[in-house]
Amino acid sequence: MAKRALVCGAGGFIGSHLAKRLVDEGYWVRGVDIKHPEWSASPADEFLIGDLRDPSAAVAALAGGFDEVYQLAADMGGMGFIHSAETQIMHNSMLVNVNMVEAAAEAAVDKYFLASSVCVYRDMDLGEAELTEDDAYPALPDNEYGWEKLYAERAVASYAREGRFQARIARFQNCYGPEGTWTGGREKAPAALCRKVAESTDGTIDVWGDGSAVRSFIYVTDLVEGIRRLVDSEMTEPTNIGTREYVSVKQLVALVADAAGKEISPRWVPGPVGVQNRNFSNNRIESLGFEPQSDLADGLSRTYPWIEQQVECN
Ligand code: NAD
Repeated sequence: MAKRALVCGAGGFIGSHLAKRLVDEGYWVRGVDIKHPEWSASPADEFLIGDLRDPSAAVAALAGGFDEVYQLAADMGGMGFIHSAETQIMHNSMLVNVNMVEAAAEAAVDKYFLASSVCVYRDMDLGEAELTEDDAYPALPDNEYGWEKLYAERAVASYAREGRFQARIARFQNCYGPEGTWTGGREKAPAALCRKVAESTDGTIDVWGDGSAVRSFIYVTDLVEGIRRLVDSEMTEPTNIGTREYVSVKQLVALVADAAGKEISPRWVPGPVGVQNRNFSNNRIESLGFEPQSDLADGLSRTYPWIEQQVECN
């Protein structure tokens, strides 16, 4: 009998890549989301439209029973969205998480995976030693999105302590790749820069901040590999999933320009940049045999052409 997996947020970027991976592994997969995937049909065996802010939709999504639940549904976006939609994030994502943990516990699922974020961590100084998962406390996330994720982590952990299911909690670094949001205000930095470079006719683009903020980015299929390794492991503690390749925004712009084969001069303009610096330990996920396959240049060489094609078609 094939294992049954429910992917919440299967109409979104990472959820649709994860659903494909699970189907390829031989799982029977139900996807649930408030919308269908935007770029291609869902690879899931069954796809339900449901608003998981409604407790009855969470219960309906779990009908038939599941071995594993992957909870990726969230009202989310890049820094522009995170800083302009605080109440929306606190209300919508919190309701989705509250409803899903309760419904999954009642449905006696075996494993419950939560997609959390490195936004749970505080800002860091340049050159500061890497933060481990335990350094999320004392907590000081930079934004409400991070606080909501911490709450969701704690909700999952509390149900697991009661023996209602086994918890698997991943803190994702910034993820990018084809079929991610690239326009409309929710896009994240790599996608936004790819779009701006594709649209630029005079070799200039506007970029928020001064280019000095430091980030790390993980290619979507690498992230999905990390999720699967974590869920298959015995690791019940929150686990960072990312790469050890850190770049400044200035370097990111240069890498996107290289992927495009264009000369680009950024104009640094005021905007919501988020934290200044990032540096996270990946020891825990690497101890499970995880090793990212794509560096940023590789990943962008596959992401840029997809976004360029979207720009040309719109
Ligand atoms: P996404 O926006 O593409 O996917 C999220 C999906 O959740 C969307 O399809 C959306 O329609 C769905 N959703 C929102 N509200 C819903 C509701 N009420 N009912 C049902 N579905 C609902 O985002 P993504 O990049 O694929 O992110 C997936 C998860 O990973 C999210 O939990 C996000 O917070 C987390 N994460 C993502 C990143 C990243 O860089 N993309 C980084 C850290 C954490």
